[in-house]
Amino acid sequence: MAKNQSATANASVFETPTYPTNCLYFLQDHMQVRIPPSPNRKSQLLDIVIVGAGLGGLATAIALAQSGHRVKVYEQASVLGEVGAGIQIPSNSMRLLAELGLEPYLKDHATEPKAIYFRRWQNGKTIGMTKLIPEFRQTYNAPYYVIHRADFHSALHKRALDVGVEIKLGSRAVSYNADTSTITFENGSVVTADLIVAADGVKSLARKVVLGGHDKVPQKTGFAAYRSTVKVERMQQDPELDSLLTEPALNIWVGDGRHVMTYKIGAGKTFNLVLSHPDNSDPREWDQSKALDEMRAEFRGWDTKLTKVINLIDKTIKWPLLSGSKLDQWVSERLVLLGDAAHAMVPYMSQGAAMAVEDGVALAHSLSKVHDSRDISKALSIYQSVRTIRSSQMQEASLLNGQLWHFPDGPLQEARDLAMYPETVSRPFVHSPNQWSDPTTQLWCYGYDTKKAVEEEWEKRIANGF
Ligand SMILES: Cc1cc2nc3c(=O)[nH]c(=O)nc-3n(C[C@H](O)[C@H](O)[C@H](O)COP(=O)(O)OP(=O)(O)OC[C@H]3O[C@@H](n4cnc5c(N)ncnc54)[C@H](O)[C@@H]3O)c2cc1C
Repeated sequence: MAKNQSATANASVFETPTYPTNCLYFLQDHMQVRIPPSPNRKSQLLDIVIVGAGLGGLATAIALAQSGHRVKVYEQASVLGEVGAGIQIPSNSMRLLAELGLEPYLKDHATEPKAIYFRRWQNGKTIGMTKLIPEFRQTYNAPYYVIHRADFHSALHKRALDVGVEIKLGSRAVSYNADTSTITFENGSVVTADLIVAADGVKSLARKVVLGGHDKVPQKTGFAAYRSTVKVERMQQDPELDSLLTEPALNIWVGDGRHVMTYKIGAGKTFNLVLSHPDNSDPREWDQSKALDEMRAEFRGWDTKLTKVINLIDKTIKWPLLSGSKLDQWVSERLVLLGDAAHAMVPYMSQGAAMAVEDGVALAHSLSKVHDSRDISKALSIYQSVRTIRSSQMQEASLLNGQLWHFPDGPLQEARDLAMYPETVSRPFVHSPNQWSDPTTQLWCYGYDTKKAVEEEWEKRIANGF
């Protein structure tokens, strides 16, 4: 007894450490000190509602459910689906998707292209080249994939269900109350949650609420894109098109004000094209029935291989290319924005959905550090500051590609092509106007560590007393 009393007396000189450690655990029977947070202490588990079952909403649902939160996704469409076109899953996104358990769901559908070839508009001559295999896997620890959007979406959907996410279709949100954390749906039902994530796309309803009633709608960029696919078996009938089909690759033709990005999807059966061109008109006035003829006219006189493929296209959709600017706020109380709702961008870095995947992981990781519900707002504020910087820089990089790719023939185009030349002949280089190749951009874009960025921001805030 006397021995115990003296142990208690001596133990009382210890203060509760401010850093994560379990070195005082052995004293817990002898002293009143609170055992400090340990890194694997249980985090607060929340009821989270996500509005929007697009690529961003579903990836986020998986990240949050895998952290133990109870997640429901509400989607306005009565049937889940995606546009019938392709999408690139760059390594920065694929590394996170692999952590979310997506590899087995994607592996039968994704294609891993060997390289990206930049081609001259007029004759298809290679003017730039980024090797993806094995470089991207080796350097960035994840493949660079291309896939049919429907396959990507369906993989995310299946994985979400497998990790316990509930998905409610035919549920259109018509109003949000950030203070009470409630959403009202078109059918009159009202849902309250600990946190609402609005992944409701470029026309987001929630964005205006988060911005205090003054929406910052993504703007026209002066460009639109035709999105099309062609059956590979039709292309195979023309031997001249063989070189576009033999090795899986991305081919991008660049010219005055225009470019065409292509790659194979759907287990190599479908050739996907995105044809970007200048267009400042109002999408509400577009006549989609004229899109096919307009598309052919836009690219008349381009490389014959490319125009042969364009002539095989039966139908196309004309799509506006919008870009948002950096929003000051992504969070209002318990309502947060995510994906295109927060950072619409032109697809010239192929990073829009990738940014939404990073958003989802950043949000889940920041919330995993919350052990007391009073700290949720800190986690959301950290999510906001980390993600606004990253995504606005990606908006900027995407717009810059629009300038770099669209030079008319002349001195700037010649200087650009000359600067890309070393990469086409496997000579060493330290910079490139091809942002997939430029070593500095490449590391920033594909080597970005989302969780580390969140960790660093938490540490910075703790050091500054929040
Ligand atoms: C031509 C083109 C090529 C692209 N290529 C790439 C690429 O290669 N790689 C890449 O990473 N990104 C690419 N992107 C960008 C990418 O497609 C988008 O960034 C991504 O799809 C956005 O996902 P999201 O979930 O944020 O939004 P969305 O996909 O728009 O999803 C929003 C969802 O919310 C639902 N919703 C909206 N309002 C409500 C409401 N009130 N109530 C309930 N539900 C609602 C919608 O029905 C929809 O399902 C490309 C974009 C374009 C246009």
